[in-house]
Amino acid sequence: MADTAQAIPERSNATSTFDVENPATGEVIATLPVSGRDEIEATVNACREAQRQWAALSFSQRGKMLKRFRDHLIDHKDEIAETISRENGKPLAECYSNELFYTCESIGFWAKNAIRFLADKQETPRLLKTKKAYSTYKPRGVIGMITPWNFPLVLTVGEAIPALMAGNGVVLKPSEITPLTVVLCCRLAEESGLPPGLLTYVTGLGQTGADLIDFVDMVSFTGSVETGRKIQIKCAEQLKPTTMELGGKDPAIVCADANLERAVNGCVWGSMTNAGQVCISIERAYVHEKIYDEFVSELVNRVEKLRQGHGHEDTDLGPMTFPKQLEKVEHHVESAKRDGAKVLTGGKRSTAKSGYWYEPTVLVDVTEDMEIMRDETFGPVIAVRKVKNDAEALALANDSRYGLSASVWSRDKAGATNIARRIEAGGVCVNDHMIHMLIPEVPMGGVKESGLGRRHGAEGITKYCHQQTIVVDRFGTSKEPTWYPLPKGIKGMLRRGLNLIYRSGWKNRLLGG
Ligand code: NAD
Repeated sequence: MADTAQAIPERSNATSTFDVENPATGEVIATLPVSGRDEIEATVNACREAQRQWAALSFSQRGKMLKRFRDHLIDHKDEIAETISRENGKPLAECYSNELFYTCESIGFWAKNAIRFLADKQETPRLLKTKKAYSTYKPRGVIGMITPWNFPLVLTVGEAIPALMAGNGVVLKPSEITPLTVVLCCRLAEESGLPPGLLTYVTGLGQTGADLIDFVDMVSFTGSVETGRKIQIKCAEQLKPTTMELGGKDPAIVCADANLERAVNGCVWGSMTNAGQVCISIERAYVHEKIYDEFVSELVNRVEKLRQGHGHEDTDLGPMTFPKQLEKVEHHVESAKRDGAKVLTGGKRSTAKSGYWYEPTVLVDVTEDMEIMRDETFGPVIAVRKVKNDAEALALANDSRYGLSASVWSRDKAGATNIARRIEAGGVCVNDHMIHMLIPEVPMGGVKESGLGRRHGAEGITKYCHQQTIVVDRFGTSKEPTWYPLPKGIKGMLRRGLNLIYRSGWKNRLLGG
């Protein structure tokens, strides 16, 4: 994993560039071009060409080709894992577990199930029985996928799979912080036999993402609320469909009867994995007063044992991915401290190494007016608050502009599920956290400011389609009763028809109720 700077890829004649760093060392590992409008337009046009042929294939043919791509990804798993770790900082084990497993499973799931969600559906009209009616799903065309840096494979190639299975082409605009995984995987896609240009990318900063919007048919965005809002406004002006997977501030509710050991272990993992840089990280824990002291003491104990180090070392968590993120975490913790919060462990940068390191941190004595309880922190920090009962925990959990995911920890599964149903979040786990992300059968997404639309489940693929309705006349009579010339007495017939059909015994015979 030597940090050698890479040259600008040849495909671009861009005049400006940006650097990609290894967050564990701060060294520049690559310099990439900022794609200009001409290059973006040419990339989308080439993608559109490839997409037309791709859309003509059957689901089974597309599935087979994507599975060949999966084989090629697995052949290159080490190169992919190292690339992710080098640009994002996460431990190699997480690159295999979360990133590669998710993406391979995504291919298997959508290759098998796309047809189930997208097959033509025939309906029998209640009233107009002389017509046959079908609804069909058609690909939207080219999807522009603008993505963040915390999961360089899952949120790019992983999210592209349902769009591809639906017959679309995909142009990725990976985060400027972690674009190398996408560059590598798009090359692997082409090598595996996917049509050249079908799964492709442009590189650059925010402006590149903004420019991409002008050329594509739909925008799939994962990122911050602030950027999501800007993209939503731009797409509204162009009447382009969007899907928005945005930020979160996940609460964990730990009930008095929780299996303490599991709850503590789950909260450590749920808050520290990927150095807390997960949209569905636990950032707030509301713990029942009966078990609060024991919970906090065990939590601190486990957090202090976490091993923080370079991705390729035997390590639990890596550095923060880039300086701005480190500064944000530092700012949240410092401001909470000033407002009266107490740091039980961590609470500062680690200065022993070069790179962007923040110590795993447990905060207590927090209140809801603190920034650390209101805004997404996105770092290795868990803030714990004591509550009197479940009702108080629920009220505090819901007192947020975010609503991405949450968890409830209790031995009473039915009671916990009942609490889960009352949490204002797109997904809630009982005695687990964020695991719904790895179950593509069920929808995942946010409410409130955490997003619009869902990945996974039926909506995870139908969102990449528009629906077309086809109605076929069954009998071929010379004209319909309401066509011209209107038959004499039609008004009276229609008036009588209303009574006959909706008020008499005919209602059941004609309409089935
Ligand atoms: P970000 O919003 O800063 O950037 C995301 C992407 O948008 C980047 O590729 C960036 O270049 C691009 N961009 C920036 N300005 C743009 C503009 N005006 N027009 C078009 N594109 C623009 O987010 P980030 O810091 O990369 O990612 C972290 C955020 O992502 C967190 O809030 C996190 O919660 C969220 N996230 C959400 C999910 C989810 O599934 N809900 C998953 C992962 C991350």
